[in-house]
Amino acid sequence: MNIHEYQAKELLSKYGVAVPRGFVAFSKDEAKTAAEKLGGSIWVVKSQIHAGGRGAGRFKNDPDGDGGVRLSRSVDEVAANAEKMLGQTLVTKQTGPAGKEVKRLYIEEGCDIARELYLSFLIDRATSRVTIMASTEGGMEIEEVAEETPEKILKAVIDPVEGFQAYQGRKLAFGLGLEGKQVGSAVKFMAAMYRAFTELDASIVEVNPLVVTGAGDVLALDAKMNFDSNALYRHKDVEAMRDPDEEDAKELEAAEHELNYIALDGSIGCMVNGAGLAMATMDIIKLYGAEPANFLDVGGGATKERVTAAFKIILSDENVEGILVNIFGGIMRCDVIAEGVIAAAREVELSVPLVVRLEGTNVDLGKKLMAESGLPIIAADNLADAAEKIVKAVKEAA
Ligand code: ADP
Ligand code: MG
Repeated sequence: MNIHEYQAKELLSKYGVAVPRGFVAFSKDEAKTAAEKLGGSIWVVKSQIHAGGRGAGRFKNDPDGDGGVRLSRSVDEVAANAEKMLGQTLVTKQTGPAGKEVKRLYIEEGCDIARELYLSFLIDRATSRVTIMASTEGGMEIEEVAEETPEKILKAVIDPVEGFQAYQGRKLAFGLGLEGKQVGSAVKFMAAMYRAFTELDASIVEVNPLVVTGAGDVLALDAKMNFDSNALYRHKDVEAMRDPDEEDAKELEAAEHELNYIALDGSIGCMVNGAGLAMATMDIIKLYGAEPANFLDVGGGATKERVTAAFKIILSDENVEGILVNIFGGIMRCDVIAEGVIAAAREVELSVPLVVRLEGTNVDLGKKLMAESGLPIIAADNLADAAEKIVKAVKEAA
């Protein structure tokens, strides 16, 4: 699960990570009040969307105008910028061409930036360890740095038993060219970030840019946090930061029914039990020349209710041109699954071709029920047969 920059800064600052002062604002008036409360003479109005590259992004209604992060030199300018940004669609490298509507702003005190650096904590799947990445090339996309000048990315791997060690922090700080009291500040900063990362079950904490101010302070000017959804049950405060506007409505609905669903770009909706079988089903759809519209694991207890909910979610995706149901009746009996599929297909008034491949306990009875249902269900005998049939049916229907 992702959260907004201002929320990440709020969490990080509780752990002692240094961040500039700021307030969230949902309206022009709130933006103005925030600027007044902050005081000073320079503010930054920052679009809050779950995507990076906001500074370099552009608004759809004003492609030649300023980006999603705007320096403002008076309270009135803060208000004017807030008005221009709220309700508009911001397109950045990370949002894709559709962009994202800006519904919240973060009003932050302007910072006197001397240097922009990069710092992140993430889990490296190769070593299965928390890894720190640091670079002098802050403010730009780290993927580009990794591509063009990989030598500019410094890494430190954290031993899970020992945890983050000060010497690792000092080594990185020197590598970043920090000096004097900045080194101590950076080590403290990293120790706090590590604690936030582990205690909150984050999967990534990225500060880009990490800045050194004119006065020599080390601050997080941007912050991104991503959390392990499986651990959210023990972080109610983090869970409460979920912003449904930023999430796929279908995925939210699926979560409510305890379905493991991920929306994808293709046209064949898949309903499968078991993550492994779901992956194999997606692969074989591709093999037969089409693309899956989703990953969907209905789980072991594929009841009629869950199958119906799954059907509805799949069909609410306007890209779906056909559905492939691939279920192995191990714990569940195939006749029960067939009843669920039939009832669901009736309830949702199926409008696209449906191929069902059942295997396992009571498979013959399951197939018989579907054949006698009077519904245009295309039965398949195995994985390859199922994929071939749905791809063909979709082509014919088009
Ligand atoms: P994004 O990564 O989405 O573009 P950032 O928060 O990193 O958004 O902001 C982009 C750039 O805007 C930063 O690299 C920095 O140069 C500038 N910036 C952001 N916040 C401030 C601030 N509080 N004061 C001064 N400049 C800022
Ligand atoms: Mg940034």
